Amino acid sequence: MANVFISIDMEGIAGIAHLRQVWRGTDDFPAARELMTGEANAAVAGAFDGGATSVVVNDSHGDMYNLLPEKLDPRADLIIGSPKTLSMMQGFGPDFDVALFIGYHAAAGTQAAVLDHTYSGRLIYEVRLNGEPATEAELNAVFAGTYGVPVGLVSGDDKACAQAAKRLPGIRTVVVKEGYGRNVAKSMHPQAAREAIRRGASETVSARGELTAYRPDPPFVVEADVANTSAADLCGLAPGTERVGPRTVRFETQDFREAFRCLLAWTYLGSSEAPRYAGT
Ligand SMILES: [Zn+2]
Repeated sequence: MANVFISIDMEGIAGIAHLRQVWRGTDDFPAARELMTGEANAAVAGAFDGGATSVVVNDSHGDMYNLLPEKLDPRADLIIGSPKTLSMMQGFGPDFDVALFIGYHAAAGTQAAVLDHTYSGRLIYEVRLNGEPATEAELNAVFAGTYGVPVGLVSGDDKACAQAAKRLPGIRTVVVKEGYGRNVAKSMHPQAAREAIRRGASETVSARGELTAYRPDPPFVVEADVANTSAADLCGLAPGTERVGPRTVRFETQDFREAFRCLLAWTYLGSSEAPRYAGT
């Protein structure tokens, strides 16, 4: 038995570089959904090549109903819809053997990284975990680690993959594009990217017995710098949140799942006061 969880975002998909492509309602968005579905299928196929017996795909971008269900590999189940209380890790639990993060992007504030952000491009300028800037991949990997489950693969641009490799020991990465700027990249052809992701997923699932869960020691201190003081006021409504600066909130706990939920609560609470234009 090998149960595989795939969390797939859109900013790190080959062929995608500009905000317009990942934004529902633009004329570019339908093509981006096709590209995302193509990489989801590559990861699903690779997982089964590597010995998966079940695969669950969690649509982890924006409003989280981007993948085209009719075009998804019929062997996979799809978690779709919003709002997802556990966001990019909705549906995750101890029954999975390995997680794969596809189409991921670099942390908010990374230079020359396609559509860099951390959970909310509109609200959050930086998230820190125990004082260090954190990526979505890292935060989600720590969450997976609380169940003893390793993350084995990250795909995305060169910056996203470098950040994952730096913080997640033993992670495999598949670089599908090189970021030139926040909305500019040199990308592999989607077909070539899918082949690389399929290979990477297959190798990762085959080697699942050698992977170890990412479990940094508690306590966990999560801080976020948010867009404005009004948004920070609203983030402060989440119980246990400390206001440590005009635009900075902080939460400390021994239990990372609490920290993860608090960060998500900040994004839901604060977003109503964040600017509407800037990101994902
Ligand atoms: Zn996204």
